[in-house]
Amino acid sequence: MNNKKSFTDVLVLGSSAAGLVAALTGKRVYPDKKFVVATLLPKTLIPCGIPYIFGSVSHSDNDILPAEAMFKSNDIEMIVDEAKEINLNEKTVLFSSGKVITYDKLVIGTGSTPAKASWLKGSDFDNVFTVPKDKSYIDVMHKKLDGAKKIVTIGAGFIGVEISDELNKTGKDVTLIEKLPLILGLAFDEDISERARDLLKERGVKILTSSSVTEIVGNGKAEGVKLENGDVIDADAVILSMGYKPNSALAREAGLLVSDNGFIKVDEYMRTPDSDIFAVGDCAENRDFVTRKPSPVMLASTACAEARIAGMNLFKLSAIKTFMGTISIFSTAIGNTGFGVAGITEKQAKNESFEFVTGTFEGIDRHPGTLKDTHKQYVKLIVGKESGVILGGAVYGGLSAGELTNTIGIIVQNKMTLNSLLTAQIGTHPLLTASPAGYPLLKAAENASGKIKCS
Ligand SMILES: Cc1cc2nc3c(=O)[nH]c(=O)nc-3n(C[C@H](O)[C@H](O)[C@H](O)COP(=O)(O)OP(=O)(O)OC[C@H]3O[C@@H](n4cnc5c(N)ncnc54)[C@H](O)[C@@H]3O)c2cc1C
Repeated sequence: MNNKKSFTDVLVLGSSAAGLVAALTGKRVYPDKKFVVATLLPKTLIPCGIPYIFGSVSHSDNDILPAEAMFKSNDIEMIVDEAKEINLNEKTVLFSSGKVITYDKLVIGTGSTPAKASWLKGSDFDNVFTVPKDKSYIDVMHKKLDGAKKIVTIGAGFIGVEISDELNKTGKDVTLIEKLPLILGLAFDEDISERARDLLKERGVKILTSSSVTEIVGNGKAEGVKLENGDVIDADAVILSMGYKPNSALAREAGLLVSDNGFIKVDEYMRTPDSDIFAVGDCAENRDFVTRKPSPVMLASTACAEARIAGMNLFKLSAIKTFMGTISIFSTAIGNTGFGVAGITEKQAKNESFEFVTGTFEGIDRHPGTLKDTHKQYVKLIVGKESGVILGGAVYGGLSAGELTNTIGIIVQNKMTLNSLLTAQIGTHPLLTASPAGYPLLKAAENASGKIKCS
């Protein structure tokens, strides 16, 4: 018998957020089916924890997803092998080892890799890094950054901000450069972005916004980063945090439909046009839940939600288990301050010509305010003017901001209205939540509702 050929009911490509959850969900729903997961690396990093490897969690060994153990305990086989070719007619995948696996259902969860800034002179110097989800690369990068004093990060999205803050905490001299006027400017409105900028500055990170980088200067090794205005910022190392590209070449070469931006096209069951092939996570195309436009958002939370839906729908479709679009729920923390956003922002609502009002309120996250460790909590809601439907919201506050942002995500996904929020029953406790009389989420709803009545 040729041991290079085998059959499995379900073959999953990828063991990170999307692949892991698709395989575990699929096996739970279809326990009699055989599942095989293929992955590039024996150890999968927890991707969202990568920035903290450079500070709080101190080493990549402390940021490992226990994928292999989870597969083993769920009777799922894992192989470390690169899928090289998908043959749609024969329903096979050829791997770099020469192994060929025939599948009944295939789930592609091949994720994304950092976008190459090949236009940027000097980006290939060996002390210039991207942030891939690759343990060996991150280990080398970590060692080299240990020996660097001055570090420049280019790109102030979540990853650039988080890595800069962590490196700053370890005593590095960090400069964060962003071409937009604000940091985190693609995710948040100004009211929240400005607070994040001020906080990061206070903590010691130097921030240059509205600054475009033209070149990384040096001689085989980066020595500085040149800006459009001619200034050069000294650097012993440079981190490029300028976005990610979906890994969809395998799907495209097989003949599956891929969008202009490189995302694999799927329906709301996460099926490609070949109904035995699903795509989930960063490599799959998303539609924004509110605007219904294709969304470039790549999030582990979205990847897991899509993977659960694919896993449940592998062998029988359920009309109620579909992916209705990405709510883009982001959150991050700078020190003990959390920032989060779910659904659309005020900026997006304006750009999309929604008729809307905003409601804001700033209170505190526990009560009474004389308690130690209370934190300001600011909530902003974006509300459809005619319908009263909540389209999005943002939170600035203590570390509970992450969970409150998730609550807003559920409100948006369920198309709750101001009326249902204003009549909602919430539980409170002095040590855990804001006061029932001044609960910022409900007070922001009241603020918005006043604007609708007045108009
Ligand atoms: C530094 C950083 C911080 C982040 N922080 C957050 C956060 O706080 N919150 C959040 O929601 N999101 C965050 N994200 C985004 C999140 O990590 C991604 O959305 C998530 O990793 C997507 O998961 P995925 O499984 O689709 O893809 P990936 O994580 O990219 O995994 C792809 C998988 O496919 C495998 N693979 C690829 N090609 C092949 C092949 N040819 N054959 C076999 N296997 C293959 C890889 O080995 C890997 O297992 C962060 C991302 C980064 C980089």
